[in-house]
Amino acid sequence: MSDMTRTPQAIPDRFGENVFSLLTMRNYLSEKAYTSLRDTIVSGTPLDPQIADEVADAMKTWALEKGATHFTHWFQPLTGATAEKHESFLTPDAEGGALMQFSGQELIQGEPDASSFPSGGLRATFEARGYTAWDPTSPAFVKECKDGAVLCIPTVFCGWNGEALDKKTPLLRSMEALSLQVCRLGRLFGLEVEGKRAYVTLGPEQEYFLVDRRFVAKRLDLLQTGRTLFGRAPAKHQQLEDHYFGAIRTRVMDFMTELDQELWRLGIPAKTRHNEVCPAQFELAPTFENLNLAVDHNMLTMEVLQRIAEKHGLVCLLHEKPFAGVNGSGKHNNWSIRGPDGKNWLSPGDNPAENAKFLTLLVALLRAVDLHADILRASVASAGNDHRLGANEAPPAIVSIYLGEQLTDILAQIETGCTGRLRKGGFIELGVSSLPRLPRHATDRNRTSPFAFTGNKFEFRAVGSRQSCAGPNVVMNTITAESLDMICTRLEKAVAEGRAFHEALQETLRELIAAHKRIIYNGDNYTAEWRAEAERRGLPNLRTTPESLEALTTPKAKRLFARYGVLSETELQSRYEVYREQYERQVGIEARCALQMARTMIAPAALAWQAELAQSVTSLETTGANATAARSTLAEVSGAFNAFYAAIQALEQGLQGEGAAKIGLLANLRTAADALEGLVPASRWPLPSYAEMLFMD
Ligand code: ADP
Ligand code: MG
Repeated sequence: MSDMTRTPQAIPDRFGENVFSLLTMRNYLSEKAYTSLRDTIVSGTPLDPQIADEVADAMKTWALEKGATHFTHWFQPLTGATAEKHESFLTPDAEGGALMQFSGQELIQGEPDASSFPSGGLRATFEARGYTAWDPTSPAFVKECKDGAVLCIPTVFCGWNGEALDKKTPLLRSMEALSLQVCRLGRLFGLEVEGKRAYVTLGPEQEYFLVDRRFVAKRLDLLQTGRTLFGRAPAKHQQLEDHYFGAIRTRVMDFMTELDQELWRLGIPAKTRHNEVCPAQFELAPTFENLNLAVDHNMLTMEVLQRIAEKHGLVCLLHEKPFAGVNGSGKHNNWSIRGPDGKNWLSPGDNPAENAKFLTLLVALLRAVDLHADILRASVASAGNDHRLGANEAPPAIVSIYLGEQLTDILAQIETGCTGRLRKGGFIELGVSSLPRLPRHATDRNRTSPFAFTGNKFEFRAVGSRQSCAGPNVVMNTITAESLDMICTRLEKAVAEGRAFHEALQETLRELIAAHKRIIYNGDNYTAEWRAEAERRGLPNLRTTPESLEALTTPKAKRLFARYGVLSETELQSRYEVYREQYERQVGIEARCALQMARTMIAPAALAWQAELAQSVTSLETTGANATAARSTLAEVSGAFNAFYAAIQALEQGLQGEGAAKIGLLANLRTAADALEGLVPASRWPLPSYAEMLFMD
């Protein structure tokens, strides 16, 4: 805010000042209520309904001090955005005055009239009631505006029968399922796991574009679809890679400074910021947090990005591909597991036992990703993301795992029982051998892989910049839980039969590596050779959203999600329906928007220029001057205009068809329009150009 002082010491004080965190609650709750709520938040013990009234009252008191007049249950419906319906604390008394009230019941459960959210057939509108229920594991926070504020309470959103209508419910369920299996593996490794749980940690790196608001106001495509449907590439865009990590322009620094301060006040640990490869593209990464909180924080980050941009006369574009021909934006989903021992289990560790546990988890992930690459791909499918994943860009639609040479070599040694190329001193005996130190950043070099091991975490890079991280992490957690379940079942049986644990482990991992190593690929993922090789290996290459979403309808997917209690068969089906329809709608909007711009903006400009050229040919000829060049220019323009007009007609005819077919027609129309943009005088072109939008301050 504007009164933010510039002394560095002020920042830690203000970090989280708009959050009703454990730290804050301490001052507002009795010892008993505080301890009870703390147990729920930290250890996941069930919420004690007895304390609800006291917590609600404390939250209200705190929120009123922050200037709040309203509260809202803040949730994440299947639209992929966040939702809120404000209710004031104000309650009229009988004497013409009013009180500010907030009860435990209002905190715990809400019933928004939420009949217009997509449910994919989970509920008909006549029984459209949806309920929101408090998620105490993600703290309430206050969102401010100029003269007030609203208390936001993170909630899940379900139908009357408990069916999940949102993205948070399955996320919480998948975390539970994974924790169970991780603890089971911990027990096999002799760890004390009673009453403990495992957590997933997530650090989502967020890419975005900033464009001056004046340009966006003149681009119907950006306003309506979030991406440019037309636009000829300028001579210089990102070829020189001089924007990447470059000095940040003053205007952007001002934006980023306010952004970080605002995020910090909301308790969001924004950590790094830099210029990205494409001009006008930037990235923000937070320090990692517990998954549920990290997902909420990323949703909030996207909102704050847009709000602060507006204050600086900018528009923050979160679309996966706002500009054709230059880099798109993604979200790198940095994922790891913090075991019941409080340690990062994707860190190789520094003794043979930890090494063995790490390798077990690594192999479980190989199996998980190999078996369910299709579902992982489906979890990042959207009309916007198709422009990255299906095209020749980072990362490709083929899911593979990058482990780096050293780790790949270690797995090969386990598989073959032989000494590898890179490691001296005998073969690897799990639980006995020490792994060589893996240099943390040697593993991070391959930027082309969609799923890379980066030293102490996996980085799933196919997530779209605008997407919620919930879906991809639901899949990550569930497929990992399934593989750990399989491994634990096998090991428990072997041990019960009296076999030595490490021997059984060695054998299990050997078999799993042999069966699933085809998913490992350390080379350049952008090449045609890899596409051919992946096909030989039988790895799926699902280019488009409609193709990818089919993965949610297979018996394999239904069994997987139902077995771990993450999504019932009907809940899964509903997601398929919703995402399929979202895709069709999005593509339909793009087609109609493009047609409107083509007919009412581009065609008139091209026609007028054509008429003027014709006029100039005639006048040149009447004066007897040489009109050859004018005539050729006219021929070029009218040729391009005829092609453009044909593309308009083709798209109009295709409007009723399938989305995927419209995409091709839309691309043709764009090619024709961009050719015209190269022929019509810049001063008459009705849309701000790429050069203006990407380079002008
Ligand atoms: P880089 O990948 O650019 O080398 P870092 O490894 O420091 O940078 O982190 C990138 C992102 O990964 C950050 O958001 C960071 O918080 C996150 N990250 C780091 N360690 C973990 C972890 N154990 N679990 C989840 N995310 C992590
Ligand atoms: Mg990274």
